[in-house]
Amino acid sequence: MKSYRKELFFEVPTRRAFINITPEVDACLAESGILEGFVLVNAMHITASVFINDDESGLHHDYEKWLEKLAPHEPVSQYRHNVGEDNADAHMKRQVMGREVVVAITNGHLDFGTWEQIFYGEFDGKRRKRVLVKIIGE
Ligand code: ZN
Repeated sequence: MKSYRKELFFEVPTRRAFINITPEVDACLAESGILEGFVLVNAMHITASVFINDDESGLHHDYEKWLEKLAPHEPVSQYRHNVGEDNADAHMKRQVMGREVVVAITNGHLDFGTWEQIFYGEFDGKRRKRVLVKIIGE
């Protein structure tokens, strides 16, 4: 069995963003030389997500509005976590959008369902953050 590990780095200039990282994960898969197996992609921070969905700007706008309704950033004083920081909402948004994804690798390709793409979801940006890509297989 082969094993491959790589960290991807993101520094988003805004507080929140959704970034399609499918090309980066594809590049990792090519570099790994693995043809059959699984890839795990996870955010290495508790205020960021990795998730799979459609690369459609309307949907991303809808996510932003929905998440702001669930856990509004302002007023920051509404959260007990926000003593000396202001990112309680980011922890909650990450919880809803998820920590990681696992994708099957078949014949050297990411074995996606229709329209599936992998996204990095940032909820407390303006700093450097990591995403782990771990691939196992043959
Ligand atoms: Zn925090």
